[in-house]
Amino acid sequence: MVCYLCEKEPPASYFGYLCVKCRRVKHLLNLYEDDVYETLEKVLVRSQPQQEHKIKTIDAEKIKITVEDEKNEYYLRRNKNKKDKE
Ligand SMILES: [Zn+2]
Repeated sequence: MVCYLCEKEPPASYFGYLCVKCRRVKHLLNLYEDDVYETLEKVLVRSQPQQEHKIKTIDAEKIKITVEDEKNEYYLRRNKNKKDKE
């Protein structure tokens, strides 16, 4: 048997339906009610424009890293060649 909410973990107790993590989520829901849903939607769920912005940012970072890696490789090779000549 698995947890009724996440459907991955075993239940926390033999007669229970929820795993430890999901029991915590239920506890937080009881404490904070609709604030939990609003927080999840605002923080974790991204709108389409937000998703596109994130993808562009990640792509730009990948390009920057690639360029920097190539520069570093160039400098490493250049320095190695200098040392080899000396
Ligand atoms: Zn669970």
